Amino acid sequence: MTPFTNVATYDYVIVGAGIIGLTISRELKLRDPDTRIAVLEKEPMPAYHASGRNSGVLHAGFYYTANSLKARFTRDGNRMLRDYCEKYGLDMNRCGKLIVAADEEELRGLEELKRRGDTNGVELHWVDEVEAMAIDPNAKTFRKALYSPTTVTVDPQQVCETLWRENERNGVHFYLDTPFVDFVDGHVHACGGELTLRCGYLINAAGLYADKIAQALGFGRSYTIIPFKGLYLKYAKNKTDIRTNIYPVPNLGNPFLGVHFTKTVDGGIKIGPTAIPALWRENYKGFSRFRLSEFLTILFYEAKLVLTNSFGFRRLAIEEMKKYFRSNFIRLSQKLARGVDPEGFGEFGRPGIRAQLLHKDTLELVQDFVIEGDHRSMHVLNAVSPAFTCSMPFARYVVDEVEEKRRVVKEEDLL
Ligand SMILES: Cc1cc2nc3c(=O)[nH]c(=O)nc-3n(C[C@H](O)[C@H](O)[C@H](O)COP(=O)(O)OP(=O)(O)OC[C@H]3O[C@@H](n4cnc5c(N)ncnc54)[C@H](O)[C@@H]3O)c2cc1C
Repeated sequence: MTPFTNVATYDYVIVGAGIIGLTISRELKLRDPDTRIAVLEKEPMPAYHASGRNSGVLHAGFYYTANSLKARFTRDGNRMLRDYCEKYGLDMNRCGKLIVAADEEELRGLEELKRRGDTNGVELHWVDEVEAMAIDPNAKTFRKALYSPTTVTVDPQQVCETLWRENERNGVHFYLDTPFVDFVDGHVHACGGELTLRCGYLINAAGLYADKIAQALGFGRSYTIIPFKGLYLKYAKNKTDIRTNIYPVPNLGNPFLGVHFTKTVDGGIKIGPTAIPALWRENYKGFSRFRLSEFLTILFYEAKLVLTNSFGFRRLAIEEMKKYFRSNFIRLSQKLARGVDPEGFGEFGRPGIRAQLLHKDTLELVQDFVIEGDHRSMHVLNAVSPAFTCSMPFARYVVDEVEEKRRVVKEEDLL
């Protein structure tokens, strides 16, 4: 008798129950309701990390160059998730978004965003100062602003919970508190080796640990994840002080959008997120989840980035670290809106950490999504913002790639 005679058998094992793992398993079930799927999640619940700790903004799709996966998926993802929220009666705040300029130079930045939006087929309108104030009386801009009517906010935890339950109803097995260990000879081992599953195909959607899992299976060797921490401050004084999402013109040289006002689904207001270089992957607070080996590797790469100043890392790191000081953080938000009381901010909210991919040779932050795999496994690397918005079309793309890799091998076997 082989040691694995009685183990459960799955066509697919997915590692990670964030929005990416959840939408991939949903997509697989939509294509074949009989396919057997297990999702392994190391935490006691899905969406414990980035998917449940983000701004909850369904972006419209004008930040990204037309040749990128992000541009392809943001516009469609926004529509698909809005439809999904409507279908299940989930909370949505359809307040839109203003992107405001501080000066002449930023106006040129807005023009670039408008060009990208037009190329990507995204609805985006120029508004003058008076029109901007009609949308949000407190918005501050230099001459003109852009208004995006299709930007909405959702409750990311509610969306993930709904996807989780839908997957369960469709027969997907969730193994919570179950850290993946390895995938050898068609068998997945988890929970320190206590659990073994027979697995036809592995999909790695492990967020902050996706690079580690990929590398153990021979993929993603050119990359490492550098975590960036996103802090938020809640504005507790008066919900009507801000009426829409208000964003600055971002530095398009890095993947972060700058401190902005988010209108949450319940009409609340928060500022953030920061993009502070973190020192280990789940470096949320104090020394919790500290891992020495991660700390040393991340320190090594961050030191390299400081020395080479790749993508202006030194300035980025200094500017971001300053946001640990509330007064500085608040001051940045005041560039976007008047009438906001600096004393009206509460404590820092629940932080989120971006699993940002760094190319180890070029020392550049990878801006677009990356997937790598073969006929046995597929690895989702760099599912950074706005991967929440993009998740449904991105899941389609991942599943198309998986099917293609498996088809090619089947055809080769027949030859
Ligand atoms: C501060 C912040 C703000 C953001 N704002 C927005 C926004 O407004 N709009 C937007 O579209 N996007 C936003 N994003 C991006 C978005 O949240 C992420 O791109 C998305 O959630 C990534 O999903 P994921 O499933 O890849 O990762 P995750 O949500 O991190 O899920 C990965 C899962 O894998 C699990 N896992 C890891 N290792 C293992 C293992 N060994 N075994 C089993 N399980 C494992 C983890 O526990 C985790 O649950 C934001 C992100 C951050 C951090």
